Amino acid sequence: MHRRPGFPARLDRPQTGTAAAPNTAARVLREAQPATPQGVGLDSAAVRARMLQRLAAAGINAAPVLRAMGAVERHRFVDTALVNQAYEDTSLPIGLGQTISKPSVVARMIELLLGAPCAQAGGLGRVLEVGTGCGYQAAVLARLAREVYTVERLRALHEKAREYLRPLRLANVHLILGDGMLGYAAGAPYAGIISAAGGDSLPQQWYEQLAVGGRLVAPMAGADGRQLLLVVDKTPQGLKQSVLEAVHFVPLKSGVA
Ligand code: SAH
Repeated sequence: MHRRPGFPARLDRPQTGTAAAPNTAARVLREAQPATPQGVGLDSAAVRARMLQRLAAAGINAAPVLRAMGAVERHRFVDTALVNQAYEDTSLPIGLGQTISKPSVVARMIELLLGAPCAQAGGLGRVLEVGTGCGYQAAVLARLAREVYTVERLRALHEKAREYLRPLRLANVHLILGDGMLGYAAGAPYAGIISAAGGDSLPQQWYEQLAVGGRLVAPMAGADGRQLLLVVDKTPQGLKQSVLEAVHFVPLKSGVA
């Protein structure tokens, strides 16, 4: 039987602060608690604080990731009928057979991305996201990376993401309608590349558009068809690949529709 690696499998951890200015997961969790209940109904700050606690319990301990996940209101990225499920750890339909990824998977992949050797020193530079979907992960990335280039192949979702992201006024998010299997050469080289869709190989362009010191995090189907999460570091000596846990992403498809 395939043994799932420990969660999270140990890879280089991102820097989470200094002793002088503690920036720990515990502190983020404490600060996320709203001081007083905010009326009746969906108190999104309180449910988000609970989501952060679950993420921390599941092994996400990079404070910047928890802080970004706490800041982005996931309920703004789903249909009104699904709003009360927005902070559950589940993927949800966003139309055209696609889904918004589970919070734990978004946090896990972004935490891995922040472990890129080139991000350890000065933070995450330019990031390429393949599969914008409704734009949720792009909004989280926008808080952690200098620039986010996000490519979606389905026009209707590209437009939906634009609409959802507009009120957030994220000047560092660039929405591109295109085939992300080709990467996006205009923004390269990237400190990080993250794919929200999985094929049975990683496109050559992704390797080419990755900076030395950069990291690629993507699902890929193995010989038995099961998807596994892959981390590829581009080092001065070449590519270094780690295979992590099983994941479930929508298929990576070519062309624009
Ligand atoms: N990032 C999203 C997840 C979207 S689901 C979130 O925040 O939840 C994955 C998306 O990848 C789908 O919208 C699908 O249309 C898109 N996709 C699949 N293949 C693609 C490709 N070659 N280029 C760009 N987008 C692609």
